[in-house]
Amino acid sequence: MRILITNDDGVYSPGIAALAEVAARFGDIRIVAPHVEMSSAAHSITASRPLTYKRTPLKDVEAYRVNGTPADCVAIGAYHWEGVELVLSGINLGSNLGNAIWYSGTLAAAKQAALMGMRGIAISTPAVGEELKFDAMKPWINRLLEFLVPAKELTLVNVNLPAKIPHGVRWTRQSVRHYDGKVVPGKDPMGRSLFWFTVTPIEEIEEGTDRWAVEQGYVSVTPLRLDLTDEKQLAQASSAHSLAELSFA
Ligand code: MN
Repeated sequence: MRILITNDDGVYSPGIAALAEVAARFGDIRIVAPHVEMSSAAHSITASRPLTYKRTPLKDVEAYRVNGTPADCVAIGAYHWEGVELVLSGINLGSNLGNAIWYSGTLAAAKQAALMGMRGIAISTPAVGEELKFDAMKPWINRLLEFLVPAKELTLVNVNLPAKIPHGVRWTRQSVRHYDGKVVPGKDPMGRSLFWFTVTPIEEIEEGTDRWAVEQGYVSVTPLRLDLTDEKQLAQASSAHSLAELSFA
């Protein structure tokens, strides 16, 4: 099986090297990743200029860098390597929980894979505080891939590791009820105003969500879908308002 590995932290991230090392046990691997960090690039593509695809010397793995977004990397990577079945994205240096799924380039790569008829799995870990110990995570990534790789019905999956050695793994749903985006004002060295659009920790956490699982020390596994249609609203709205009778004459 051909497994394409990408991320949004850039081709030289230690997270992608750790993921590639584990993934090599599950098939033929190739890294195609952004040449620089593209965190929070979401599902953007580069449409206004051409892209390059350049061989990059990485230890023990065939790797290429693209001067584009994570979604670009999946498209360009699949173009150069026929028959890719699975795209693994990560290991991201930073959790992708709840609303972060909308901003995440890590998730976008997995979504791009699903859009193109491949499977996509995004893997993230908290990056705040201590230095990341990818060696300690490798047995967990291995165990997860042993389960997720053969589970072909799971076409798009968001995996988040907790900060410390996990107690186990939990199925979760996306915690969209809490929003943690915040604008923080500051000053530059010349006294001019500047702003960070950043996240603040969320105190109250709903049980069964991705954020809850990671907080409790579990690996969170959330199956996602590309179809954003609100089925409940659609059913209610279409019975309440017959748009067929709406006239523009
Ligand atoms: Mn990132």
